[in-house]
Amino acid sequence: MSTDVRTAPHGSAAHGVVGRFAPTPSGRMHLGNAFSALMAWASARSAGGRMVLRIEDLDPRAQDSRRSELLMDDLRWLGLDWDEGPHFQSQRTEVYLGALEELRQRGLTYPCFCSRSELHAATAPHASDGTYVYSGTCRDLSAEEVARRSRERPSATRLRVPRRGEPDASIAFEDLGFGQREESLESECGDFLVRRSDGVVAYQLAVVVDDALMGINQVVRGRDLLGSVARQTYLAHVLGHEAPTFGHVPLVVAPSGRRLSKRDRDLDLGALRASGVKPQRVIGALCQDVGLAEPGEELAADELARRFSWDAIRSHRDDLVADALA
Ligand code: GLU
Repeated sequence: MSTDVRTAPHGSAAHGVVGRFAPTPSGRMHLGNAFSALMAWASARSAGGRMVLRIEDLDPRAQDSRRSELLMDDLRWLGLDWDEGPHFQSQRTEVYLGALEELRQRGLTYPCFCSRSELHAATAPHASDGTYVYSGTCRDLSAEEVARRSRERPSATRLRVPRRGEPDASIAFEDLGFGQREESLESECGDFLVRRSDGVVAYQLAVVVDDALMGINQVVRGRDLLGSVARQTYLAHVLGHEAPTFGHVPLVVAPSGRRLSKRDRDLDLGALRASGVKPQRVIGALCQDVGLAEPGEELAADELARRFSWDAIRSHRDDLVADALA
């Protein structure tokens, strides 16, 4: 039976935990992506839960079916499986546009004409992750001004976030890996993008709509996305959905301390598989740093699911260094 995720949530409480893989096919999976995928899968499976696979290929540059196939092949090679999907975000534009239209009609969004350089000039860089707090330049433009500027350049769309004193101005949540947190949307990010000026739906909107409609109730991913939780929780509330539980896990960094990226070809699964390394070796090496495997132990995905616990992540939040396989 094919599943329709256009209209209604179809995960249900009867399924218990519903987790997801949500890779962006921007290149071959590297060890950091592999670690997040392993933790997401083990967290859901250890609770007897389900997994959904969603390919996050909204950006035209990520729409590459060969890369998506390789991603799925790498997940299977690690011993990971899923019960539903793949869903492709590139095929769900009309669902996102429906949510955008609803937000617009409720007066919750506005067009933003700021160019990249104007944004950089007018906003304060956010200390920890280099993202910017939007100062609200286009928040209160008159209808005439919007019409005039629309003739000059395409607009992006921003969601108004609550100001201090308004409901939801501060979002509190308990992260499975990083514990109790509280964030003010106004001071952490300001009004944020839900559609880019090139017309592509923004990640924040697509991910919230999809997690809600796909019945996802547990989101496990790298800690670089911890800063998105408040935005995603707020957006879920605005759209009438319950936000999922979030669990963030450490990143895997190069020996220099730099985050792994596409440049680190030697640490992607393509290179590792070509070198003949076994999946159990990769899983063991990644898991030993969070205390889920003994040094040098080889570990199969099934065994990881049996011994997985969030306590391990909570007591090992530091980034993992990717030379463990050397
Ligand atoms: N697609 C995102 C990535 O590959 C992950 C999004 C998410 O987990 O919310 O980094």
